Amino acid sequence: MTPLAEALVRRIRADGPMTVADFMAACLGDPRHGYYMTRQPFGRGGDFITAPEISQMFGELIGLWAVATWQAMGKPSSFILAELGPGRGTLMADALRAARLRTDFVAAARIHLIEASPRLRVLQAETLRGVDVKWHGEFADLPEGPAIFLANEFFDALPIRQFARTAEGWAERMVGIAPDGHFTVGLRPTAPPVIGGAGLANAAPGDVFEVSRAATATIAAVAERLTSHGGAALVVDYGHDGPAFGDTFQAVAEHRYQDPLAAPGEADLTAHVDFGALAEAARRVGALPRRLVTQGDFLIRLGLRQRAERLGRDKDDATRARIASEVRRLTDPKAMGTLFKVLAVSSHGLALPVFDDDP
Ligand code: SAH
Repeated sequence: MTPLAEALVRRIRADGPMTVADFMAACLGDPRHGYYMTRQPFGRGGDFITAPEISQMFGELIGLWAVATWQAMGKPSSFILAELGPGRGTLMADALRAARLRTDFVAAARIHLIEASPRLRVLQAETLRGVDVKWHGEFADLPEGPAIFLANEFFDALPIRQFARTAEGWAERMVGIAPDGHFTVGLRPTAPPVIGGAGLANAAPGDVFEVSRAATATIAAVAERLTSHGGAALVVDYGHDGPAFGDTFQAVAEHRYQDPLAAPGEADLTAHVDFGALAEAARRVGALPRRLVTQGDFLIRLGLRQRAERLGRDKDDATRARIASEVRRLTDPKAMGTLFKVLAVSSHGLALPVFDDDP
């Protein structure tokens, strides 16, 4: 048993079964044993690989998107460029490198990172050496001002509660302990909180509905900043344009799916992002969410193919083949192209590149 599993067993024996959200929050964020607190999960030697780690082109194109967005904002001479959950800091480093030619953009940008893990902050500082960076443990600690917010694979790490429709009605899935001592999921009769006017009435027995209070509260906080100070947010993640039913609670370790209850603190726990719920939460505080775009479309419309072509020019065949395979991984529907989606949110009256372009 992992040290965190022992602590969770004690907690459940004392307080009774816990929500999936509390279990997930402990597994990822426990200050001593949480997954993100103790590990460096990214890359080939880690547990999973994210788009900025697949290709420098991902962060570069997002950097160009940020420059165009800043221009649409009227080129404020000082603005916040913040990333939520920056991992190794690769996306921000690539974005700033691509934006380097726009010296007025770079001079205006105040770089802020929202990162809970002290260990990952050290890595981010290394990746972003030479850049003036400020870190915050929570979004609420950011200073006010016009802003561009970026988040890649951040919202999937925020805890979800799960509700299951049974023949008798709704019940919440709770993590308890089986007679053999392992964690197990049980049901506690209770209705899901009504969020986003979900079509809960259409549920059939067996359906599972997921709610992330942390995700909707975070996007609402982001959107409130956008409505009061102007700016835009770009959220990239795997998920669906909900509401939708399905159990998406999952664990990944060493690039393989695992039982999410099996090794608390040692596997990455995530859930698919309900983009419909995020958009609704943003709209509710007066911001303007755009129609969801797939990651593949987003990158191609930003010029991924042209960027790949330039990057491969004068390179050897092996390098060109590597670049071509990066393009495929990022855009192919069989890889990340359609499972991953991009949500843009902004203050009203801002024309966002890609989202507000003529098709
Ligand atoms: N964006 C990066 C990393 C994604 S992993 C990439 O694409 O490679 C998720 C990141 O979010 C990690 O940096 C993790 O430490 C951070 N994180 C997760 N939950 C968080 C929370 N509640 N508050 C702040 N940071 C969090």
